[in-house]
Amino acid sequence: MAPRTRLAKRRDHVLFDAKIKAVHWLKRNKRRIATAFHAVLRERHAVDRHRIVVEWEHAYERVLDATLVHMDEEIWGQTDGRVIELHDRIAEYGVCRVTATLAHEALHNTFLMRRKTRSRRWVFMSCDDEHEAMERLGLC
Ligand SMILES: [Zn+2]
Repeated sequence: MAPRTRLAKRRDHVLFDAKIKAVHWLKRNKRRIATAFHAVLRERHAVDRHRIVVEWEHAYERVLDATLVHMDEEIWGQTDGRVIELHDRIAEYGVCRVTATLAHEALHNTFLMRRKTRSRRWVFMSCDDEHEAMERLGLC
């Protein structure tokens, strides 16, 4: 295997730093985040607090497991709810950008609501609802 280049080391360092910062930010702002997400669910779907579950530990884990991958698309990050992938060049834009992107991706698929349907299943919020809550948090 070829030796890691200085650039690769720098990227890994920035990513590591940003992961720690993103988890801290999520932990520090738990209440404020929950308030924003709850408000969107209440206003848009009349879902109240006791029908919402937040998987914080899952969010922290996904941040810590995030990887840099080569993407052709012009996006900084993506998640399928299990893993978070960041554009491999994002680290060049600094720790702040990476931290904000990790926090953003971590807040996807973290809030679940129980629907008032017959099955009463827990479902994730829609991407649009999640983005609305994130916008209220100043994350977008
Ligand atoms: Zn998003």
